[in-house]
This record gives sequence, structure tokens and C-alpha cells, in this order.
Amino acid sequence: MNKMNSLLLALSLATSASVAAEERQLTQFTSLKGEFTQGALLVGKTRPNTVITLNDKKVAVADNGTFVIGFGRDAKLENQLSFTFGEQTLNRDLLLNKRKYRESRVNGISKKITNPNPKNVARAQKDAKQVRAARAIWSDGQHFAQNFIWPAPGRISGVYGSVRYYNGKMGRPHYGVDMASPIGTPVVAPADGIVRLYVPDMFYSGGTLIIDHGMGVSSTFLHLSKGHVKAGDKVKQGDLIAEIGNTGRSTGPHLDWRMNWNNQRVDPQLLVPKR
Ligand SMILES: [Zn+2]
Repeated sequence: MNKMNSLLLALSLATSASVAAEERQLTQFTSLKGEFTQGALLVGKTRPNTVITLNDKKVAVADNGTFVIGFGRDAKLENQLSFTFGEQTLNRDLLLNKRKYRESRVNGISKKITNPNPKNVARAQKDAKQVRAARAIWSDGQHFAQNFIWPAPGRISGVYGSVRYYNGKMGRPHYGVDMASPIGTPVVAPADGIVRLYVPDMFYSGGTLIIDHGMGVSSTFLHLSKGHVKAGDKVKQGDLIAEIGNTGRSTGPHLDWRMNWNNQRVDPQLLVPKR
């Protein structure tokens, strides 16, 4: 029996089968790789021409059946994936593990830092708009399916999801993984992609660079001292793209690497080897 027939059989059986059997049949034809946890980026493969929804929202599927989904820091734990092939639909619950994020307290912060002036607020809003526009550019690449490498050496000085309480007030969570290394340390592309933005001086993030890995997945690098690429450049995994800096609102030389799946912020550290 060829694979397409098998899928049709699996989908038609699924309408009357138990949930456990559905899952078996689905996993037979569809794979989904990654850690099933909040902050995850999961890379999947299904039959071409399958329509996929995640929590009733359509997910892009490449011609070869590759797809990718991502879950934010506080993503709900119970999610529904559905696969429709022709007339048949197969539903699957996707359960994520709950994560516990690091918390720290910083007291005695001056008002100047906790309440930036209106001019700087306006500048930061303009920066954010530019970043959103760069991330919104769509490409069909499937570079996110590569095994990611670390973009820089250095001690891990900050992790995804952690929150700081400034003078007792909760700040925005930290969404990147920080690598502390001296200014000028080379930063390399963690996977292939297309550069979508390099701006040397954003208000909060300083030198800021975005690489599009395809299908809504992107990497963002912050606080850079120097960029070696420009928007539109194609980069390969391991290529020199920038240098570590201490620009923007940064308290020491480090690289802050963030990843997105569309507007969901995912944890880059789940995609690279332990260190
Ligand atoms: Zn950081």
C-alpha cells in the first residue's frame, strides 16, 4: 500500500476509533518534533495537501508537507491540532508541559529608568513597529528544520521567560537567551536564512538584527556593536553576521538571542545543544 492510501485509511478509521487509536494512526503519518512545553517550536511533517489548524487557526503547510508551530511563554497547556485531508478530519490534543520561570528582584531603581521620557517612548515605539514589519515578511524557506547551533560563545547570563521585579513591580519577561562575551566577539547565523533587518541603534535593543528562517520563524539578535550583513542578504549556518556589543539598554557586553514563530516568542535554548 502506498503512503497516500495509508493516510486515507487512517483518516477514515479515525472517525470511529478511540482517541488512543487516532493518535497511533496520526503518528504513523505525521511527525512532530521538539519539546512539548511552553516556549516550544515544533517542526512537523505530514502528507502534502493536508490542511492543518492549531486551536482553529490555519497553519501554513509547505508543498512537501513540512509545517512549524510555536508556543509562547504562557501558552495554554491544552491545544488542539486538526489535520484535514480531503473529506476526512483527524483531531489530536497537543498537551504542553508547564514551565517554571526564574524570578529575581531588583530594588532601588531610579524613576528615570523605570519611567523613560516621552521622546524615548516614541522612539521605542517606532523601533517596535520596524521590528514587527521585518518579522511579518513571509518566506517559504524551511531553514528552521535544521539543527540550530549557538550563535556565540559565552556564559549563559539570562534565560527565556525569566521575570524581574523592579522596586516590587513586575517588569516585562525576558524572552531571549543571553550569552556574555566581550565586545567584538563574532556572532554567527544559528541556521540558514535571509536577513530582514539590521539597525545599529534601537533605543532598548541597540544594534538589532533579524534573520528569517522561513514560514514565520525568525531569530533576533540584540545589543550588537557591529553588523556584517544587511537586509536581503542570504546567510548560511555558521556565517559571520555581527559582533557582540553593549548597545541599547544593556548592563554589560552580551548577545541576546530571541526567536519568534509569527507573533509567538519561543525559547531558542530548546533548539540548541545543552551547554
Ligand atoms: Zn537579554
